Amino acid sequence: MAFNNGKPYHGTTEVSGGKLTGKTGKTDYFFFLCPRCNNGNVMRVLEYERRETIPLTPRGEKKNPKENLNLAFHLHCTVCDLDDFIKIDNNHQSGKVADNSIL
Ligand SMILES: [Zn+2]
Repeated sequence: MAFNNGKPYHGTTEVSGGKLTGKTGKTDYFFFLCPRCNNGNVMRVLEYERRETIPLTPRGEKKNPKENLNLAFHLHCTVCDLDDFIKIDNNHQSGKVADNSIL
């Protein structure tokens, strides 16, 4: 089945700008926390998509990714009904988010 039923998608201002956070639970699983509820409610991943990638940018770091990664996630909060999208890739440089305008 096509991600988001084949419709365009882009994260909203509710999840961008550092508003979406997350953490691991008792194990190594990572959870996205609903920014609208802002009380630790875990968002459910409804679907994901492996997106087309661009060539990795050499960063001159000690270790580098072996392959490109770009995943899109469709997130949903069952409490407040927030429905949104985020992406994760390995082509952004590491460092503190506030120190880099790209991040
Ligand atoms: Zn919520």
